[in-house]
Amino acid sequence: MSTPLVPYRSLSMPWFYPLPLTLILPTVYLILRHRHRRRHRLGLCLTCGYDLRASKDKCPECGSPIPQSEIENPK
Ligand SMILES: [Zn+2]
Repeated sequence: MSTPLVPYRSLSMPWFYPLPLTLILPTVYLILRHRHRRRHRLGLCLTCGYDLRASKDKCPECGSPIPQSEIENPK
C-alpha cells in the first residue's frame, strides 16, 4: 500500500521581494496615528485639522463634534 500523491504548488523568491508589500499597511497606520496624535495635542479637529481653540461644540469647517474632553481641558 502506497501513500497517495497530493498535488501542490510552490513559489520561491528572495525573502525581500514581498517586503514592500508587507510594509505598506504598517506605514499607513503609523502616518495616520502620528497625524491623529499631533492634531489632538495641538487642539485641532481630528477629522480636518481645523483650529478648534475658538470653537465650542462642533468644528466650523467640517461639522464634526468636538469631544467633551477637549472642551473641558483645552491645551
Ligand atoms: Zn473639522
